[in-house]
Order: sequence, then structure tokens, then C-alpha cells
Amino acid sequence: MADVELSGMRKIYGDTRAAHVAVHSIDLHVADGEFVVLVGPSGCGKSTILRMIAGLESISDGSLSIDGRRVNDVPPGERDIAMVFQTYALYPHMTVYENLAFALTLRGQSKEQIDTRVRAAAAAMHIEALLPRKPRALSGGERQRVALGRALVREPKVFLFDEPLSNLDARLRVQMRREIARLHRELRATMIYVTHDQVEAMTLGDRIVVLRGGQVQQVDVPSALYERPVNVFVAGFIGSPAMNIIEGTVVADGDGLVFQRGTSVRFPVPGQYRGALQPLAGKPVMLGVRPEHLTLGNDAPHLRARVDLVEHLGNEDVVHATADGMEITVRLGPSSLPDAGTEIGLRADAQVHFFDGESQRRVDGS
Ligand code: ADP
Repeated sequence: MADVELSGMRKIYGDTRAAHVAVHSIDLHVADGEFVVLVGPSGCGKSTILRMIAGLESISDGSLSIDGRRVNDVPPGERDIAMVFQTYALYPHMTVYENLAFALTLRGQSKEQIDTRVRAAAAAMHIEALLPRKPRALSGGERQRVALGRALVREPKVFLFDEPLSNLDARLRVQMRREIARLHRELRATMIYVTHDQVEAMTLGDRIVVLRGGQVQQVDVPSALYERPVNVFVAGFIGSPAMNIIEGTVVADGDGLVFQRGTSVRFPVPGQYRGALQPLAGKPVMLGVRPEHLTLGNDAPHLRARVDLVEHLGNEDVVHATADGMEITVRLGPSSLPDAGTEIGLRADAQVHFFDGESQRRVDGS
């Protein structure tokens, strides 16, 4: 097992006339045995970073070390990594057994050694019964298990995953997510995992790297991303349904401050934020509140909204409403649900976030 260190690692595609910076200088240390997820919308550079670690893409600038050794110019086959792709990339003419054995055969291992490792990997992935079959006789989920098994037999220093579950249906995705989490627990291997799915990121990662436009936004444990997003982008990206971001201003109100927008939002600023928000009085400020942190409160509401739609999901209900031209999402329990078309009052007593409207950065309370 090994740690992975990216320092000032950059990727520029194209030549000097038409250069495109896909990954700006990234610094990241993945500890030995850690599970790190790179997450962000399509095109943010996550696959490029993974491919640079794998050696499938050249590194334009900076350095990459695996287990303390600089590997910028080391060919992929000598980096001691195994990569699992979205498309399973199995050899169609080989049986599952042969697919698993292939890399070991190339290394010139004995038949007995190969057999032991193939059977151990097959047992770990619960695919012993599939060993004689060809990939075309497997379901999508089974193929992905084989692809994982093929990575396992190599006993690499680092596992890399590039959206490995994207081709599976929702139920299988959940099942395979558990399998990957279990593998990580059992192997304590260093794993770097790319996905655009924040739920996958939040459930799998020891730490998560949120990327946007080739730049790291925040590197943190899942709970910190949820509770203390550093900017509006991370706040909106992590969590489902997404955090409500309300654009407004902060103005003086007696001894304190109040956040307001039009006639429909009036939220007294909690004491611990007053010092930090005072300098922003009169300037654009954003209030962030997650759908699960809003409650109905018709008597003394912070926010008045008109209900557009109520979605009944069984265990919870999601209310979509409009306040002063802005869409608001509220997660409520099944009791006391409003009807579409009615006016409701909402309160944000639990957890709120403030962001500077210009820089979009988080404003921390004291
Ligand atoms: P992600 O995996 O987050 O969807 P990628 O790493 O694939 O993003 O791509 C990051 C950026 O680099 C995108 O703007 C993409 O268009 C660009 N890009 C990716 N591969 C190439 C390439 N081979 N040549 C030029 N640009 C590329």
C-alpha cells in the first residue's frame, strides 16, 4: 500500500496557440489506506486528474509521487496501480477466469500462484460461479464485479476508479457501492474514486475533493462539506435536494442585523454572524438554508412563499414553492402538508449559512 502526493499538478491540453487548462495547479495528499473521492460536474477535470495518476495522460507541470517516488515519467504498467473504468473493458474472447488471470500471466507468475490469486479475488467479489463464463453471458452488475476482481488480483499499491457505477441501474449502484466500501474496509487499500454523483461521493469517501473548472474548491470530510461549505458552489453541489440560496441584503435593525429580500424574506441575523456580516451591510449577501432545515411556521415566518408543487416520496415530502420570484425547496415529514397554491410561512431556525454575494465565499460566524 502507498500514499499518493500531487504537488502543483497541472494539465494543459493543446499547444500554446490554443491552450486549454483542464487542471489548474492541484495539491493533494492521499494518505496510505485512505479513500478519496474526486467529485464535480462534467468537464471539471476529475478524469484528467485520475488519468494523470494512472499514467494514461502526461503531466504538464508539477509532480506526482506514489509511495514517495516521483512517477511523472514512469509508464503506467510500472506504477503499481489498478484502474476500474465505467466501461468494464473486459476481454470478450476470454473467460472470466482468463480475464482475471491475464495481468498475472503477463508478469510470468506460475499457474499455481495465478490460480490462488484468481480464486481469492473471485471469492472476495462473490463471482466464483462465473469463472468459466465469457463476459457476454454476464449482466452489467456481474461484469463490474469481474472488473473489480481483475483489479484485486493485481494487489496494486493504489486503486483508481473512474465512474465505475455509472452504467448500472439505481439498485445495482447502491449494491456495488456497498461492495466497494466493504473492499476498502477489508483491504485498507489506498483508493481514489472519480464520480459526478455527490451521493456516491458522500457515502464512499473518507475525504472528498470538490472540483469546478479544473480548480479545487474544497477538500474535506463529508460532514464538513455538508455543514461548512466554503462557497456557494460547494453549498449547492453537496446535498440533495440542493441547498436554497437566497440572494438579498443585510441591513441594520435596532441593535442587530436583518437579512432581507423584497417583502417575502426577513431573517434576523443570529448573534454569532453579526460581526462578520456588519461590513457587508447594504451589499449583496446570500443566505443558504438546506431544504431539511426549513420548517413550517405561519405565526412568525422568516420567509413567505407560495406552494407550487408537493412531491410525495413516501418517507418524506418535498414542497416546491416560490418566494419573491425565487424557487424554494422544503423537505417536510408527512404531517401537516400544505396544498399547492396556498401561501406558507417558513422558518430557518436550525442551520443557516451566509455567503458574500460578490466573492461567493462563506462568511463564518464567531
Ligand atoms: P470530467 O472528468 O470532470 O468530466 P475531464 O477531465 O474529462 O472532465 O475534462 C476536463 C476538461 O478538459 C474539459 O474541458 C474537457 O473538454 C477537456 N479535455 C479532456 N480531454 C481532452 C483532450 N484529450 N483534449 C483536449 N481537451 C480535453
